[in-house]
Formats: sequence, C-alpha cells, structure tokens
Amino acid sequence: MVKKKHIILLGPPGAGKGTFSYQIKKIIPDINHISTGDIFRENITNSTPLGLKAKEYIERGELVPDEITNNMIKNRLEEIDHHSWILDGYPRNIGQAKYLSEIVTIDLVLLLSVDDEIIKKRILGRFICSNCNKIYNKYTLLPKKEINTNHWICDDCGKDIVFKQRTDDTEETLNKRLDVYRKNTEPLVKFYKEKKKLKTINAKNTLGYSDKEIKEFLEI
Ligand code: ADP
Ligand code: ZN
Repeated sequence: MVKKKHIILLGPPGAGKGTFSYQIKKIIPDINHISTGDIFRENITNSTPLGLKAKEYIERGELVPDEITNNMIKNRLEEIDHHSWILDGYPRNIGQAKYLSEIVTIDLVLLLSVDDEIIKKRILGRFICSNCNKIYNKYTLLPKKEINTNHWICDDCGKDIVFKQRTDDTEETLNKRLDVYRKNTEPLVKFYKEKKKLKTINAKNTLGYSDKEIKEFLEI
C-alpha cells in the first residue's frame, strides 16, 4: 500500500495535467483526482448556482474569483479528508496557494513543463468523453474504436463520443488563459521551490513515461 499522498499538478493550460492524472490513477487507483476545471464544467452543465457564477469567467479565460474557488476546494477536500489526492488546476495563484497551505499538508508539486506550440496543438485538438472525462486529441490521440467520422467509442467507459470542443478551447480564449498563467500561476513555481516541494517534469510526451518512471516522479 502506498502511503497517503497529496500531490499538486502545476503547469500551463494544455500541459497535460488531466492526462497525467489518469496515468497516476492507473498506478494509485484509489487516489482522488480533483480537477477544479472539471468541477466547474459539471456545475455549468447542471446549471447549479456555482456553475452560473463561474461560467462567465471561464468563457472569458479568466480565473474564477478566489472566494468561490477556495470554498469549493475546501468542501471537496473535507469530503475525502483522509484519502490521497491529486489537485489538477488548483492552486492557480498565490492567494489560493496560501489558502491551501493553511488547510492541508502538501507532499509534492509536479510542474509539467511544455512549449507553447505543443500547448496550442493540444488545446485546439482536445475533446473529452462526456461520460468519464477521458481526454482525447483530434491530432494525436483518437479513441481506438471509430464508428464513423467524428464518432467513436470511449476506450475506458465504452460510451459513444463525438468530437466536441470545450467552449473555452478557442484560440482567443487560449491566449488569454496563457496570459493569466504567466501572470498569476507561474509565480507558484518560485513559491513551491522555496518550500522544496517542486519537481519539474518534461511534459512533451507524458504518455511515453513507464509506470516505473511515474513512480519515481511520485516518490513511491
Ligand atoms: P486549463 O488548465 O486547460 O486552462 P482547466 O479545466 O483547468 O483548464 O480550467 C478551465 C477554466 O476554469 C480556467 O480557465 C478558469 O476560468 C477556471 N478555473 C479552473 N481552476 C481554477 C482555479 N483554481 N481558480 C480560478 N479559476 C479556475
Ligand atoms: Zn469514457
């Protein structure tokens, strides 16, 4: 049994934080994958009060205000308190990072490092299974079973999927998200380096890493 792990994935949009979370889950199946982006999108789909508040920010490529996001994360972490978790997409600014360190301990921060050209290709080709959230890419990672053009069977859950982009995966919104990353999120690299928690991973092809390599990154 692996000891309880609290892991943060840091990196620009399109660094592959979601995909890498799936790889970690294959190795530690009972770890909780907490993606703030996924939680917001689920709330938007279900038109919850939280979703209605978050929608406008997300569609502009801006950060959802800290008081909304911090509260949402606190509730989620309380629900799973004694378990292991991977945080994907949180914290995203210094205020959130300080808040988080007041409520939990953190074992490891993995920075997924990748060039801008790769980011663009990943984001603009990205689509997900609406049932299980598995991430695919039009250019690099199609589901194995094709039914016809733009229509497949999900490799993981077996449900039908069609190519459908996220509403914030347009070129214009992506540029805005990259700006927000540089300005608000990148300072976290220094923040966690100083706390000696940070490890940088080349994320050009995380799917090429073996389980053994991933275990080394995770220190398990
Ligand atoms: P990506 O990492 O590709 O930008 P995410 O799914 O992580 O995508 O996030 C999508 C959007 O959700 C962000 O652009 C932002 O508007 C909102 N969001 C996600 N996480 C946070 C956060 N920690 N704080 C504020 N807003 C967030
Ligand atoms: Zn699926």
